[in-house]
Amino acid sequence: MRLGDRVAVITGAASGMGRAMAVRFAEEGARVVAADVVEDKLQDVVQAIQADGGRAVAVVADVAVRADVERMIDVAVEAFGTLDILVNNAGIMDGMVPAHEVSDELWDRVLAVNVTGPMRAIRKALPIMMQQGRGVIVNTASVGGLFGSRAGAAYTASKHALVGLTKNVAYQYARFGIRCNAIAPGGVETNIMGANPRLDPASLGVQAAMAGMGLNPRTGKPEEIAAVAVFLASDEASFVNGAILVADAGWTAY
Ligand code: NAD
Repeated sequence: MRLGDRVAVITGAASGMGRAMAVRFAEEGARVVAADVVEDKLQDVVQAIQADGGRAVAVVADVAVRADVERMIDVAVEAFGTLDILVNNAGIMDGMVPAHEVSDELWDRVLAVNVTGPMRAIRKALPIMMQQGRGVIVNTASVGGLFGSRAGAAYTASKHALVGLTKNVAYQYARFGIRCNAIAPGGVETNIMGANPRLDPASLGVQAAMAGMGLNPRTGKPEEIAAVAVFLASDEASFVNGAILVADAGWTAY
């Protein structure tokens, strides 16, 4: 049990990597607060965990809404007494829209979900973690947070911002026994492209974003990212802080 009795909040837990993380964290002994906007799929995950003998509660929460984010952390404390691990995993794509075409609405929505939500969750979680002298934050960034053209302008900017937030928190709160790292996945087989605004294969944004896809050795499974998250959340990663752990089959090593 690598996460025995730890209390973990995981956002975007109804699908893809977040679902795999919720299931795996519970298998590793964590008490899981699973948060998402999609209630039926969220209940499915929690029931699957409980049927397997794990401990989990569901919170319907939109990470773009401040009150929802704060309630999600409150639920962890009310249900399980504290918060040890925060996984900011929920995120949305941007339709590969390039900078000259990005609307204010698209920009604001992508930044709200991918950066402002994680910031608010971190802001709410830190005092709890500081008081107990320990805590772990894991953010799901992207190779799009390290390189320039894996997606559109808004997604790329949002994930770069999340990388910056990760490093800032990592350094400034290390003295309180808190670690903050990010995972930078490459292409992973989830539902994110289905939730993406319709893509026009002939558009500049899609063509530019897809230019390097031929270099990708393979896509990954959500469980392969969940395994990285378990490592970062566990005490085995006690000396790992402020790292952006790339998990991409070597795509960006070229
Ligand atoms: P997914 O679409 O399968 O799962 C994302 C989940 O987040 C969904 O259940 C969705 O309902 C939820 N969500 C979306 N907006 C939300 C909101 N406002 N509040 C709460 N929940 C919300 O996608 P995934 O690929 O598992 O994505 C997880 C993370 O991985 C995202 O941050 C994404 O940017 C990142 N990522 C994905 C890939 C990939 O190839 N799939 C690559 C790099 C990074």
